[in-house]
Amino acid sequence: MSTIAAIATAQAAAGLGTIKISGENALTIADSVFSAVSGKKVSDTPGYRALYGKVHDGETTLDDAVALVFRAPKSYTGEDVVEISCHGGLFILKRVLRAVLNAGAEPAEGGEFTKRAFLNGKMDLSEAEAVMSLISASGEEARAATLNALDGALSREISECRDKLALTAAFMAAWVDYPDDEIPELSDDEMNATLTDVSERLEKLLSGFDAGKAVLEGIDTAIVGKPNVGKSTLLNALAGSERAIVTSVAGTTRDVLEETVRVGNITLRLADTAGIRENTDDIIEKIGVERAKERFDRASLVLMVLDAQNELSDDDKALLEMCSKKNTVVIINKTDGEVNLSVTELKNHTSAPIVEMSAKNRKGIDELTNAVENVVGTADFDPSAPLITTERQRNCVMKAAENIREALDGLMMGITPDAINVCIDCAIENLSVLTGEKATETVVTEVFKNFCVGK
Ligand code: GDP
Repeated sequence: MSTIAAIATAQAAAGLGTIKISGENALTIADSVFSAVSGKKVSDTPGYRALYGKVHDGETTLDDAVALVFRAPKSYTGEDVVEISCHGGLFILKRVLRAVLNAGAEPAEGGEFTKRAFLNGKMDLSEAEAVMSLISASGEEARAATLNALDGALSREISECRDKLALTAAFMAAWVDYPDDEIPELSDDEMNATLTDVSERLEKLLSGFDAGKAVLEGIDTAIVGKPNVGKSTLLNALAGSERAIVTSVAGTTRDVLEETVRVGNITLRLADTAGIRENTDDIIEKIGVERAKERFDRASLVLMVLDAQNELSDDDKALLEMCSKKNTVVIINKTDGEVNLSVTELKNHTSAPIVEMSAKNRKGIDELTNAVENVVGTADFDPSAPLITTERQRNCVMKAAENIREALDGLMMGITPDAINVCIDCAIENLSVLTGEKATETVVTEVFKNFCVGK
């Protein structure tokens, strides 16, 4: 495999920057661009050691640098790795990278170091995916959850499920294939218990997906409500800035403004909408209304704002009806003034949680936060629990859960062990796709490991 190199730190001016080289020629390539003050060669240096010296391109000295040596297999990629750290100016880093490429390295593709780590068995696919999530984590809980995934929480959960299934499959296969070997038959109850346990664990993973996604990636949120109910004011209260233009003339929020705000443990990608109102003659506002509708359709969470001063109108009822198919929190705003809106009547038109607040006085934001966390399902989010974080992982778990359901149905209907084993094998296969291993080998290995029937 080729030796690859890339700038591993941010592409911005900084105190330090690092060029990473990985592959069988990493040490000799480093030797041709780096000279240690001590005269020692990188290729003569053991792993986990650093050398101080100069980095150069041919005769031209580029910078002072430190070369950190990792020897295969004890490195991130499992290959020989050298990290050259120099001053973090973008020009210097690019120049050093060019020198490294001139010396024979190939430019690394996106994610290639991690891909090599996976190919060299340093981590499985779900852990590799966690590396990416960790890099883009946007909050404390997101960071904790992805670090947990990188630490193998999901891999362990999947492996445990898979081992249980493989053992069951191995028992059944051995029992069917070697009827004379007095292998005890697995009782239906035992099998049912194993399959039910795995099924529950997979369902738990699936049910945590949406909450995990909301915590890790944030959630598309639309603020809707008639003109002048206080949508822009709410947006500003949440964003803590004067991003949207707030006026008391109906219809002045002309466009969809986007703002990202942290609400509890979630990032909301908020859009203030131009008020969903059909009967405007103003062409500019019409464009705004169109966009607001698009935004509403796309949103996974809706904050529907009502004005406490006014009784519920037909427009409000129509909006509540629209929101009924979405995760919604209904906000009764302006409760600092006269209140004419009847909560009892409102409850006849929505089953969504209702929060009373004063956006202008920033009152009720904690209540709103709780309601949002409950609706999105992140209230009980546990960053230490195993978490599926990508659609790919979810797809694998969904398929495996379906296979287990089929196996359980088959067991209930009394179909042959062979047929049940087919379902279990499919589930193992799907879980192995998740972690990136081959499935059928797992069963084979398990059969001989546990029974020693080979003769
Ligand atoms: P939008 O059209 O829904 O975006 O409404 P705005 O946010 O522009 O607010 C319309 C008017 O209501 C402005 O004069 C705000 O100051 C006022 N307003 C917004 N929130 C509150 C509130 O909580 N209490 C009171 N009394 N007035 C508010």
